[in-house]
Amino acid sequence: MARTAPPSNAALAEALFRLADREPPGERRLALLRAGYSAMDAPGPVRRRVLAEAPPWLEPLLGQLLACPGEGALAAAVERLAGGSARRRRPARERFLSRAEVDGVLAGAPEPLRPGLLRGAFHWHTRDSDGHATLETMARACHRRGAFWAVVADHSRGLEVASGLDAEGVRLQRRRLRRWNDRYGDELLLIQGLEVEILEDGTVDVPAVERDALDVVVAAVHRELGPERDQTARLLRAVTSPGVHVLAHPRGRLFQHRPGIRARWERVFAACAEAGVAVEINGFPRRQDLDWELARLAVEAGCDLLLASDAHAVPHLEYDRYALAIAVRAGVPAERILNLRRADVFLDWLAAG
Ligand SMILES: [Zn+2]
Ligand SMILES: [Zn+2]
Repeated sequence: MARTAPPSNAALAEALFRLADREPPGERRLALLRAGYSAMDAPGPVRRRVLAEAPPWLEPLLGQLLACPGEGALAAAVERLAGGSARRRRPARERFLSRAEVDGVLAGAPEPLRPGLLRGAFHWHTRDSDGHATLETMARACHRRGAFWAVVADHSRGLEVASGLDAEGVRLQRRRLRRWNDRYGDELLLIQGLEVEILEDGTVDVPAVERDALDVVVAAVHRELGPERDQTARLLRAVTSPGVHVLAHPRGRLFQHRPGIRARWERVFAACAEAGVAVEINGFPRRQDLDWELARLAVEAGCDLLLASDAHAVPHLEYDRYALAIAVRAGVPAERILNLRRADVFLDWLAAG
C-alpha cells in the first residue's frame, strides 16, 4: 500500500496561517502566526522545531495537524477546526517558497544553476543605510560565500523609512570601495550600486547627474503599492529613465501583508529587455519578488535577470538561494542570470546598458 507523505512545511504553514486568519488579534493569533513562520523558515522536517517553540496550549492542535496523513487530510482538518470559515489562500501568500522547498528545488537544480556557481552577490545593504553591518564586513562575508564580485545597494536618501545616502554619502562610500578594491579587488571586486526610489509618477529620486556617478542604479518601488490601480505607466517611465540598470523587487509585495502592485507585466518586461534593464528576483524570504510565474514571463520577454539577497545583515546573504530556487522553478536558462558571469563580463554588461 502506498504511504501518504506527511504534509510539507509549506502546507503546514498555510494551515496555521489560515487558522490565524480567523482569530481576533491577541496571543492565540500571534502564536499561530509564529508557528506558521517557523514552518516556512525551517530547514528540514518541521515537527520538533515548531513544537519546541509553541506554547503548551498549542501543542495538541499542532500534533493534530502534523499527524495528518497528507495535504488533503490537512486541508480537511483546517476546515473542521475553522468551522468551515477558513478562507482560501490570500493573494499575499501565493507563490512563496518555504525554506524546505528552496532546499528541495536546489537539490534537483540542473548543473549550471548550482548555488556554488553564483559569482556575483547582488543587492545588499550596509550601515550606510538600514543594514546592520559595515561595508567591509558584508564584503568579507560575500567573499567567504564564494562570490568574486558584489554589488552594494544601499538606499538613496529619498526613502523616508531608511536613513539613506545623499550625494555626499555616496561619495564617501565610494572612497571606501576604492580602498577595498585596491587591497582585495582581485579576490572580491566591490561594485557600487544604489537602490533608488521610483516615485509615484515613475521618475526616480536621484537626479541623472548623480546616477551617472554610480556603477549600478537599482530602481525599486517602496510606496504607493496598492493593488487598486494599474501601474504599468509608472514602471515604464522608471525603466526607461537614463542610467537605470535594474528593476528591483518589481511588485513590492510582502508576505502576508500586501500582494504588490498590478501592472501589465509583459509590457514592463518588454521595455526592460528593450532598454537593457535587468529584472531582479529578490530572494528575501518575505518578498520573493518576482515569483516563478512572473520570472518566466520576464525570460520570455527577453530580459536578463539578477538574483538578489537584499541582505540587511550577514546571515541574510544566503537569501540569494531563494532567488536561485525561484529561477530554477521558472526554468530560467543559466545564460540569462547575470550573477553567473565573471566580474569583467558583468562590468561589460553594465557599460553596454
Ligand atoms: Zn527595496
Ligand atoms: Zn534593498
